[in-house]
Amino acid sequence: MIESQGPKYPARRTDLTDRPGRASDLAVSFEFFPPRQAELLPAFWDAAADLATLAPRFVSVTYGAGGSTRDQTRELVTEIQARCQVPAAAHLTCVGGARAETDAIADAYWRAGIHRLVALRGDPREGIAAGYRPHPDGYAYADSLVAGLARLHPFDISVAAYPEVHPQALSAQADLDHLKRKVDAGATRAITQFFFDVDCYKRFLERATRAGINVPIVPGILPIRNFARTVTMAQACGAHIPAHIGSRFEALADDADGRLQFAQEIALGQCRALLRAGVRHFHFYTLNQGEMVRDICAELGLVSPLAGYR
Ligand SMILES: Cc1cc2nc3c(=O)[nH]c(=O)nc-3n(C[C@H](O)[C@H](O)[C@H](O)COP(=O)(O)OP(=O)(O)OC[C@H]3O[C@@H](n4cnc5c(N)ncnc54)[C@H](O)[C@@H]3O)c2cc1C
Repeated sequence: MIESQGPKYPARRTDLTDRPGRASDLAVSFEFFPPRQAELLPAFWDAAADLATLAPRFVSVTYGAGGSTRDQTRELVTEIQARCQVPAAAHLTCVGGARAETDAIADAYWRAGIHRLVALRGDPREGIAAGYRPHPDGYAYADSLVAGLARLHPFDISVAAYPEVHPQALSAQADLDHLKRKVDAGATRAITQFFFDVDCYKRFLERATRAGINVPIVPGILPIRNFARTVTMAQACGAHIPAHIGSRFEALADDADGRLQFAQEIALGQCRALLRAGVRHFHFYTLNQGEMVRDICAELGLVSPLAGYR
């Protein structure tokens, strides 16, 4: 986990009545990952319980690279839905499993009341740079996984989309064609990889619409909690970080509060620009930390009347 001991935001009273124009038509979803160490579980549950009060459309829990968190993902997804009373989605990947094995996991989810999945190809345990080789008896790519899942049960299925093109795609067009295949196979929505250039997302949306992709393409928002870590993630997934963001973080190297504030400014600026472009659903990569995401949601007008700030 990164920056688990960041500075706390000051306590603040929330009052819907003094927030003109609460965007009641806004939807949010929150993504978490299974903590690698048991001592990070309390922070996970704090963030999940806190953000659940915002009545998200769903929360999701990732599936570790190479299927490495299979049991933990299942436990957390079922528990989060029961404990936090929010619809939960389990990420499921093609990597490392035969079709029958993957189908059995999905079937068990259905029977446990988890009817939402995020269906992905996934990356090998060693990371994307290690190259991808489908399991000989497995689903090769996300489109065939989606088709297999849709045959099993009427799941709500989200898939991944890449405004800046997946790093292993043969071309931007091939990547878009592949997204279309995932949607045609039964995906309900796409969630984008994180990005910082809103115009790039808007262009992607236009191209997707022209290609006949008619499901929502929900922008994935990553509030930056640790700039160095974000750079590594961006390099792996092909996301571009504008130079001005890097130089500002460099200038704030000794100012933890300033970094938090700047990170929030970036994410909020992005969300506001997306709102102006007509976006009504934001998917937040929470990195298992609730405070900044909650603050951003509050600034967007999304506050639970029952919730207060810590
Ligand atoms: C919202 C979101 C959530 C994620 N959650 C997880 C997670 O929980 N666990 C995890 O391990 N990873 C996760 N990832 C990362 C994801 O697994 C990687 O980006 C992975 O490299 C691609 O997965 P995909 O589902 O997009 O693959 P696909 O949609 O299958 O595409 C992968 C690449 O293969 C190409 N392609 C597709 N079909 C073919 C074909 N027939 N022949 C040749 N090339 C083809 C595509 O153009 C693309 O370049 C997530 C990503 C996003 C955006």
